Amino acid sequence: MTTAQPLDVQPTPLALLLLGRDADPSSERGVECPGDLPAPSDPDLVARARAAKDKLGDRVFVLGHHYQRDEVIQFADVTGDSFKLARDAAARPAAEYIVFCGVHFMAESADILTSDEQKVVLPDLAAGCSMADMASAEQVAECWDVLAEAGIAEQVVPVSYMNSSADIKAFTGRHGGTICTSSNARRALQWAFGQVDGGDGKVLFLPDQHLGRNTAVRDLGMSLDDCVVYNPHKPGGGVTADELRAAKMILWRGHCSVHGRFSLDSVEEVRARIPGVQVLVHPECKHEVVAAADHVGSTEHIIKMLEAAPAGSKWAIGTELNLVRRLANRFADQGKEIVFLDRTVCFCSTMNRIDLPHLVWALESLADGTVVNRIQVDAETEHYAKLALERMLALP
Ligand code: SF4
Repeated sequence: MTTAQPLDVQPTPLALLLLGRDADPSSERGVECPGDLPAPSDPDLVARARAAKDKLGDRVFVLGHHYQRDEVIQFADVTGDSFKLARDAAARPAAEYIVFCGVHFMAESADILTSDEQKVVLPDLAAGCSMADMASAEQVAECWDVLAEAGIAEQVVPVSYMNSSADIKAFTGRHGGTICTSSNARRALQWAFGQVDGGDGKVLFLPDQHLGRNTAVRDLGMSLDDCVVYNPHKPGGGVTADELRAAKMILWRGHCSVHGRFSLDSVEEVRARIPGVQVLVHPECKHEVVAAADHVGSTEHIIKMLEAAPAGSKWAIGTELNLVRRLANRFADQGKEIVFLDRTVCFCSTMNRIDLPHLVWALESLADGTVVNRIQVDAETEHYAKLALERMLALP
């Protein structure tokens, strides 16, 4: 008779993400929330959230990312993209609790930029970001060794997108690099190339290959041949030392699972379906989509363009669906027709983990004096991550 042996099988990171539970130490995904969540069917959820928020008063500041559901956004004191929200939180030192309705890396950035007395809370710890998870600290350290072996580490300046974990931001700070957002990626790259004398500088762009490629080619006039993709899942990144030495842009093989879904077919299909439509996409989309679009810009840029658009104009937007739907409703009575670029539903599933039951649970716990789901970055990581963020703030 044999005795059953425990299976040495670990859930994959994707399974953890989908299940929304368990810890994954190599990623920014969290654990299942402790405590009892109210039932989603509870008819009093809105009233309960309102009551808890009123009880906390100025002690709580609720941040709502643009991609959040409407049921959550209604409780946000301020809405915006991740960097704007982190700065808004820092500008409210009297708020003891920052409830971040967004994803994990955003809450980390808020913790880095706020004072030690402020406690940042993420209503659901399973709200990670699949893009941020595509670059772990170990993988990036290994990549740096590969660059050193190729003899080019001295020439490389890391530029990391805001959508990265605190560990990656700290790596960037340690190696003389900067953080960027989708609004200032061009300036960040120009700055980074200027850091190496003799014009032979290179950039390691993390973790979104599309934003890196689009900025280099579209904004800085480089060619696609100036870029190589470093794949952390292949030995040596899947590129030769000669290819690394020849490249100007070393792009990390990461992408946003939401924006990465838009295709050239989506653009052609919407143009055939809606004559006169203008296609406006986020630079996290693939290069061929960005190249085919009429306009490209960050979330804040998309909102501003639609605000300024004339009545009667038609728009197909390539970004997250919650935001597009909200903008379509907001501008409908101004005669602006706004549709989602793709025919398939394209929510950010991790953003959507923050729902009303989690928000009610977090607010009621805080109102009862219990801090739940606190996001805290350790002092050393915070120091170097802040260095990289400060370089971004000082960009010319
Ligand atoms: S939209 Fe993309 S980049 Fe933003 S949180 Fe979701 S997966 Fe991450």
